[in-house]
Amino acid sequence: MSDHRYERVAVPASLIETLREKFGDRVSTAQAVLDHHGKDEGWHNASPPDAVVFATSTEEVAETVRLCAAHDVPIIPFGTGSSLEGHVAALKGGICIDVSKMDQILEIHNEDLDCRVQAGVTREQLNEHLRDTGLFFPIDPGANASIGGMTATRASGTNAVRYGTMRDNVLSLTVVTPDGKIIKTAHRARKSSAGYDLTRLFVGSEGTLGVITEIGLKLYGIPEAISAAVCAFPSVEAAVNTTIMTIQAGIPVARIELLDALQIRAVNAYSKMTYEEKPTLFFEFHGTEAGVKEQAEFVQSVAEEFGGEGFQWATRAEDRSKLWAARHKAYYAALQLEPGKRGMSTDVCVPISRLAEAIMETREDCDASILTCTMVGHVGDGNFHTLILLDPDKPEEVAEAHHLHERMVMRSLRLGGTCTGEHGIGYGKLAFMEAEHGPDTIAVMRAIKNAIDPKGLMNPGKLVPGA
Ligand SMILES: Cc1cc2nc3c(=O)[nH]c(=O)nc-3n(C[C@H](O)[C@H](O)[C@H](O)COP(=O)(O)OP(=O)(O)OC[C@H]3O[C@@H](n4cnc5c(N)ncnc54)[C@H](O)[C@@H]3O)c2cc1C
Repeated sequence: MSDHRYERVAVPASLIETLREKFGDRVSTAQAVLDHHGKDEGWHNASPPDAVVFATSTEEVAETVRLCAAHDVPIIPFGTGSSLEGHVAALKGGICIDVSKMDQILEIHNEDLDCRVQAGVTREQLNEHLRDTGLFFPIDPGANASIGGMTATRASGTNAVRYGTMRDNVLSLTVVTPDGKIIKTAHRARKSSAGYDLTRLFVGSEGTLGVITEIGLKLYGIPEAISAAVCAFPSVEAAVNTTIMTIQAGIPVARIELLDALQIRAVNAYSKMTYEEKPTLFFEFHGTEAGVKEQAEFVQSVAEEFGGEGFQWATRAEDRSKLWAARHKAYYAALQLEPGKRGMSTDVCVPISRLAEAIMETREDCDASILTCTMVGHVGDGNFHTLILLDPDKPEEVAEAHHLHERMVMRSLRLGGTCTGEHGIGYGKLAFMEAEHGPDTIAVMRAIKNAIDPKGLMNPGKLVPGA
């Protein structure tokens, strides 16, 4: 899955010259810049573009796209490069459009709880900006990703169990289509029945249908009371069953995150924490003082029923930040268990009633493997990840990692789940698309891709098999 090879398109020197004339030193062909833009944070092979354009406006993106389209040159949008499935690799070469300089927060509408931002704004930047307004934006992938990239991957994170994913929180988009036109998919209304829902089509399109340049987002009031807690369990099964019962009881937890015992060891070492080395749930509750107390007491009693012990509470903001910072660094912590190895981070999502089965069988596979694997999960959504540590130069380790990965995905599909709950397809998971959706559904996806991008220039080799 890491070895897709395509013939590179010859990018005319005249195209790069024209881009330089227009954008000056915001066009780069420096090898370090190309390498950085041809590789995400995952373990897949790099494939650098031929040049990178650092755009500063929708018009500049449109101009770049029109020039590339005129020369039939591929275009790869780039946010912060934190994706994990080879999403930004320029498999056929071409021009990467980096939107990180498009970092303006354009409008905040406190009274309507929404905002409009340029695609390069990062989630931390947005929340920093909102700090004094009493509002926040909840979607929090572990990395400080761009809002454009999060939209393009339909990202989520620890808060999704309460606030949904990018699918639920994007109101409207400005998009540069593959022929260089600028379209708006919707206005600011919370709901609309006016025609095809193009916003949802572009959310999760991974740069294969156009370049997203502006995003309208929902915002939320910062809850009156927030409380977080950590609880260790005698087994992964006990932790998962606590999660299932909490969700089935309709408790509106804001976060419910599983870390297995090995992952806790990694977090303790990396973030200087002292959690018991046992399967552990991290919780967060949002609401009124009374509501939070009620939710927390219910969950504590469920956890105790399953043998959970030592609920540690974090009600002060700085303690909560420390706790969630440790959780967000779990990926880097796990990589340090075997320094020098690469991490295959896999992500599946199943209906909550099948979560125990999915996690337990995956844990058994991991325990029987020659490779070290940690497990973490946004388990309230039925979403979990395995990080498989491997040496890419050892074929037997690569083969074993693929074997574990494939079994995990096929198990998820058997249980009514998906091959990816949030990381997306890139080219790392392309091979599972047909198994998940079937040939007729893939044919519809291909027809959409061909209708919007008939020359196949937008991020080729990603998301839709054979497009
Ligand atoms: C430590 C770690 C933890 C993570 N945790 C989570 C998690 O909890 N939940 C989760 O969902 N993900 C997670 N991720 C994955 C990653 O952060 C998300 O996929 C994120 O949304 C990618 O955003 P980005 O700005 O880095 O996009 P990039 O990696 O730059 O791009 C991702 C894809 O989107 C396309 N794209 C980027 N910008 C645009 C644009 N403006 N217009 C059109 N297409 C665009 C690219 O072409 C590419 O296909 C994690 C990654 C890491 C490294």
